[in-house]
Amino acid sequence: MMKCYDCSEENKVNEAVGICIVCGKGLCLEHVKQVELPMKGGYPLPHLTLKKDLPRMMCRECIDSTLADEFCV
Ligand SMILES: [Zn+2]
Ligand SMILES: [Zn+2]
Repeated sequence: MMKCYDCSEENKVNEAVGICIVCGKGLCLEHVKQVELPMKGGYPLPHLTLKKDLPRMMCRECIDSTLADEFCV
């Protein structure tokens, strides 16, 4: 099983429940963020084709660095 990357940086060990779709690191329930975004237009990952009903999980870091730019116009 994959371990949570953010936890391991804090010297903790947690099973990952999801994977950040941007950077690909494993994330536990505590660190994973589910994002509800329309899949059209300016989605931050145009090179990935995700089905609409797939859960989109991202880590805090990637939300901060991608979505902030995307939505703070
Ligand atoms: Zn974690
Ligand atoms: Zn990430």
